[in-house]
Amino acid sequence: MQTLLSELCPVCGYHLGTLPWKHREPSGIRCPCCGIEFGRDDWEQGEAGDTRALADLYRKWRKNWIINGIKWSDRETPPPASLNLTEQLLGIGYTLRTELCPVCGVYLGFQAWRGGVASDEICQCCGIQFGYHDWEPDDSLGRQAIYANWRLRWVEGGMRWRSKSRKPPDGWNSIEQLRLIGVEL
Ligand SMILES: [Zn+2]
Ligand SMILES: [Zn+2]
Repeated sequence: MQTLLSELCPVCGYHLGTLPWKHREPSGIRCPCCGIEFGRDDWEQGEAGDTRALADLYRKWRKNWIINGIKWSDRETPPPASLNLTEQLLGIGYTLRTELCPVCGVYLGFQAWRGGVASDEICQCCGIQFGYHDWEPDDSLGRQAIYANWRLRWVEGGMRWRSKSRKPPDGWNSIEQLRLIGVEL
């Protein structure tokens, strides 16, 4: 169980201080950051020692956790002041930014651009369409300038959720979201 030989939460990368599972024995602890409980939420896969199924499960948890706004789960203990989710996720090899909107920081669930190819998708939050509004082939610097501009207009327009067909996630926070892409307001 390679992913479980570490004391980092396999979902969010938080340092748990103990192994989530030890030889098919769950720790029974709940990650205060993403909320997964080892031995309950992953019981079936962990007990079977099925690392591939576990990795799948953790990936799904991570995705949902990110979609729901990357929130600290434990209501009783506040998050440490030093909490840096981008770095924390990097610790388990997950680059958060890859699937965040480069304009507004919302979790897209896809990469805006992959190599030189645009996704052609629209960000539900700020409304930019990748490959159309940011059409600068082979020029990621040019695109960065477009993003900065678009962001400025979005912020000045009151940071409104643009999509009519899809609602923002519960507790959606545009300022926190921007922080994830390194923009402090
Ligand atoms: Zn976690
Ligand atoms: Zn966006």
